[in-house]
Amino acid sequence: SSSLISTGKLVETRALVNGKFIHFEGFPVVNPATQGEIAFMSNTPLETVKSAISAAAEAFRDYRTVPAQARARILENWYRLMIEHETDLARLVTLENGKPLADSLGEVRYAASFFKWFSEEAVRQYGETISSATPSNRMYTQWQPVGPVGIITPWNFPLAMISRKLAAALAAGCTAVVKPAAETPLSAMAMAVLGVEAGVPDGVVNYTPVGHEKTKSVGELFCESPDLKKVSFTGSTNVGKILMGQSASTLKRISMELGGNAPFVVFEDADIDKAVAGALSCKFRSSGQTCVCANRLFVHDSIYNEFLFKLSKALDTNTRLGPGLDPTVTHGPLIHGRAISKVEQLVEDATSKGATVVRGGQRRNDLGALFYELTLLSDVTPKMEIFHTEAFGPVAPIIRFKSVDEVMELANDTRVGLAAYFYTENNSKAWTVAEKLQAGMVGVNTGLISEAALPFGGVGESGFGREGSKYGLAEYSDLKTVVVGL
Ligand code: ADP
Repeated sequence: SSSLISTGKLVETRALVNGKFIHFEGFPVVNPATQGEIAFMSNTPLETVKSAISAAAEAFRDYRTVPAQARARILENWYRLMIEHETDLARLVTLENGKPLADSLGEVRYAASFFKWFSEEAVRQYGETISSATPSNRMYTQWQPVGPVGIITPWNFPLAMISRKLAAALAAGCTAVVKPAAETPLSAMAMAVLGVEAGVPDGVVNYTPVGHEKTKSVGELFCESPDLKKVSFTGSTNVGKILMGQSASTLKRISMELGGNAPFVVFEDADIDKAVAGALSCKFRSSGQTCVCANRLFVHDSIYNEFLFKLSKALDTNTRLGPGLDPTVTHGPLIHGRAISKVEQLVEDATSKGATVVRGGQRRNDLGALFYELTLLSDVTPKMEIFHTEAFGPVAPIIRFKSVDEVMELANDTRVGLAAYFYTENNSKAWTVAEKLQAGMVGVNTGLISEAALPFGGVGESGFGREGSKYGLAEYSDLKTVVVGL
């Protein structure tokens, strides 16, 4: 397709195994804005996925001995190359994911920042000396790579969800096999091309894209392979549970970044304009398709109408729905038919139980099959499905509350605790509410929290493990203790 041509050498439709790009019969990659086929991506046979695992295991023997300084240089190169090619990478993300170009560019930079961050962390992973109770013994600890890892990622951040894991794994001295999401393999492969150019040794990073029909089998292969020592997954809570079950067979180390149901609380003493701006970006970024998006907006009774009015007006003036390649567009389509049907069904359920559509609430078939208006629903209650379901779409359910105790109870009424947000200008309330929210990450007076330095992860059924930060490196490292008798 003509729109792919400008992304040049970065268009790679083959799998990467042991340093070689290999072609297989493909599965279609679709542009969600037009539903046109953009490319056919090699559908890696299971036998080849097994070869990729073996290659990662073989490459680990050498790679684990590469000094951290040398690993850091590869990561730094990869970072630099991604920034050099940020425009082409962003275009690919927009083509296959649908998010607007400015968001895609933001994602490229965010994705690249993990290579930079972990190039810096790689050389600062310190061990300790510990005093022994036995006078003639000396003890020290040393971090060692866990081994080859399997990486399974979703389509909503096709670059960043991979780099957040991969950069940490490589910094720690691990090798990897990556299975990108079937919806968005082109940007993943473009990043792979740059990894080869950055100097990643053969077999250290392998990419095995597969179509939907083989996804489950690859998951099983990864989890049950004795050669892979860890599986790192970002995706839905349901799939996370399946993978955790499968991982029992090899007692695999696992990291799970799963679904969220983020509360976004606006207290009566909030700076309302700030909260409106925060809600706009936090709820509607990528049309609501991020796991840290606000999913339930709780607004104090005394400012409920003012907040609704201002948010509705902000959406009218600051947003434009359309195809992401159009630079004036701020919000793109949803990823596929299931996503838009789910949103539609959640809105129907809520209105049938008494919620009111304040803005939006319709498909925009004039723009394409997957466009849904940025929607505000008022008078939402816990009786409605949308209260308990991660909508992953551009619908903001707005719930009225009267007291701190009441809203804390409602906000924490979920089994998944990834992100949570609240707005107040009252200092002591800020401290206590931040402590009480059951979530892995809390934004106080801000709706955007993600960066490489942030320990990213959830509690409860949002999973476990942290990505980014110094903790991200520990996820790919084993602590070895050495006792020396004198
Ligand atoms: P999403 O709704 O974001 O697509 P999923 O959890 O279904 O969330 O998908 C996230 C990633 O997990 C994708 O790469 C997908 O291909 C993969 N996946 C889905 N089902 C399975 C499975 N049974 N085993 C392994 N991976 C899976």
